[in-house]
Amino acid sequence: MPTNQFPPMSRRAFLTTTAASATFVVLHPFSAKASAGTAHLRIMETTDLHVHIFPYDYYSDREIDTVGLARTAAHIADIRSEATNAILVDNGDFLQGNPMGDYIAYERGMKDGDMHPVITAMNAVGFDASTLGNHEFNYGLDFLMKSLAGANFPVVSANVVLEEGASPTGDKTLVKPYVILDRMITDGAGETHPIKVGIIGFVPPQIMNWDRRHLEGNVTARDIVATAEAYVPQMREEGADIILALSHSGIGSADRTDGMENASVPLAQLDGIDALVTGHSHLVFPSPSYADFAAVDADAGTIHDKPAVMGGFWGSHLGVIDLMLERDGNAWRVLGHEATTRPISKRNEDRSVTALVESDPDVLAAVATDHEETLAYVRRAVGKTDAPLHSYFALVADDPSVQIVSIAQKWYVGEMLKGTEYAGLPVLSAAAPFKAGGRGGPEYFTDVPAGDVAIKNVADLYLYPNTVRAVKVSGAELRDWLERSAGMFNQVNAGEADQVLLNPEFPSYNFDVIDGVSYEIDLSQPSKFAPKGELADAGASRIKNLTFDGAPVTDDMEFVIATNNYRASGGGSFPGAKGDTIILEAPDTNRDVIVRYIVEQGTISPKADSNWRFAPLPGTSVLFDTGPAAAGYVDDLDGLTIEPAGDGPDGFARFRIQL
Ligand code: MN
Ligand code: MG
Repeated sequence: MPTNQFPPMSRRAFLTTTAASATFVVLHPFSAKASAGTAHLRIMETTDLHVHIFPYDYYSDREIDTVGLARTAAHIADIRSEATNAILVDNGDFLQGNPMGDYIAYERGMKDGDMHPVITAMNAVGFDASTLGNHEFNYGLDFLMKSLAGANFPVVSANVVLEEGASPTGDKTLVKPYVILDRMITDGAGETHPIKVGIIGFVPPQIMNWDRRHLEGNVTARDIVATAEAYVPQMREEGADIILALSHSGIGSADRTDGMENASVPLAQLDGIDALVTGHSHLVFPSPSYADFAAVDADAGTIHDKPAVMGGFWGSHLGVIDLMLERDGNAWRVLGHEATTRPISKRNEDRSVTALVESDPDVLAAVATDHEETLAYVRRAVGKTDAPLHSYFALVADDPSVQIVSIAQKWYVGEMLKGTEYAGLPVLSAAAPFKAGGRGGPEYFTDVPAGDVAIKNVADLYLYPNTVRAVKVSGAELRDWLERSAGMFNQVNAGEADQVLLNPEFPSYNFDVIDGVSYEIDLSQPSKFAPKGELADAGASRIKNLTFDGAPVTDDMEFVIATNNYRASGGGSFPGAKGDTIILEAPDTNRDVIVRYIVEQGTISPKADSNWRFAPLPGTSVLFDTGPAAAGYVDDLDGLTIEPAGDGPDGFARFRIQL
């Protein structure tokens, strides 16, 4: 903001107009209570915007009410009108994370003087400062610096270093480590006084692993808490009355460890820091999610008794810290505080969503052209596939729509593990068909023809906004993971015809195919696990001829499996994936990894490699229901004897498979 004055306002309740209606706004109690020598300062936070400006899901190409800075901006306007003095900060991860960000990075590019749309939108809202999140580095340093050049607000980050000094305060940093904003603040008697608000920012030092290819040799990253310890006294010496930490780091352990990713709790413990805005975890604070965290009061919104907030993600919430300040000579100190968040939407009991605010038209107008260009981008080809990507047979044969997910996951995890202690282990990948008929109906399949692939097709290949994880498992755990998946099928009697193949209680998203090993599923055997994952028959085994690189998999072998956060942390209750085997918590979504893979490859060859099949059972056949459009692809199947067998129920088509 060009002004050094907080936006002026009256101290009485007054009339304001929102987009929808005129409402009376009641002053916050701190503003009402402030007297001569005391003042109310509101700190507003957005975090993890990930280029979400319009309330729009570009993957599914439709409007949604749960995201968008244009919506959060409506709360910001309200709060500016409710309090005498307010500042607005962003906590990082604004530059990457949706197709608009990819469009600018991969297609339109950033030349000197170009404006990045998220910076345009942030300028329109009027931020006082921002910091860098880990995702700011995803497109490289040149792209980042050209994007930041358009910002009308300072961007600070204290622990990303171009040239290290003897201590952090001697470092040459990539951007300013901190700023001290000179502002005039109005006290309860209407008198204005100078105040210096120090703002310092931090990013997880894990950026050096996550964006190694962009950062190695160019910058280093220091420990968050050690960096803060060095700078905060210097900021005080320079006259900061209060210090606000922009912590692009989660609320995690209270035990300080060197290089910790989620450092907000030890950071809050430092003398001199008065308040923290946090993020990175895409959660909300204060909230019951943090009820059991040491040194955290999840009701009061404090960490080590300092006020803190986390404003969700993608613009879902505005974080608000209210400070009651007392003038102490020429300085200010914090008398009282409150932390709250304001959501932009609410989820109803029937899972529908109601918007709680309307979009700020000025913010929408500022990036209307970028929005239109992004729509065109998600609707046109960004790459080609030389095989059709469909899931009609994903439950009965190795399948290209699952294969492409595994190819991209293996590529990404392999890159991430380079230079780590796990670099020598074989990387396998687990992926399941998300859209495979069932309760979704006979049209509920992935079906992208050979030829052009558009961004919006990727949402079809990967339905959920999961993030990539890698787990380390033994050969025995790998085998049991596959046994768990094989519960998808009913047990069949050898020698009998036309038995029903699929167990309707078993959802297809728990049918993990593991790529990188070969195996057969023997349907004549009982399932070792029940549909929800409980052990059903400890001695049972359906997985036969499990091999890696042509040799049998033994129990003591070690593998890395690329998967998602849902599976790795116990979703579906898979052996080897109960949360204690995770070796990589990657920052990227599986969907973004698939997009990146397609854009980098140009043409993809997702042909399935037939690494799994049903074990032969001569004289035995099963019936399998799938979408009617499957008929067009039935001849492409390798290693499966299959024929049409008429109509199934509810619009499905029926096929007979000879085992
Ligand atoms: Mn984020
Ligand atoms: Mg395969």
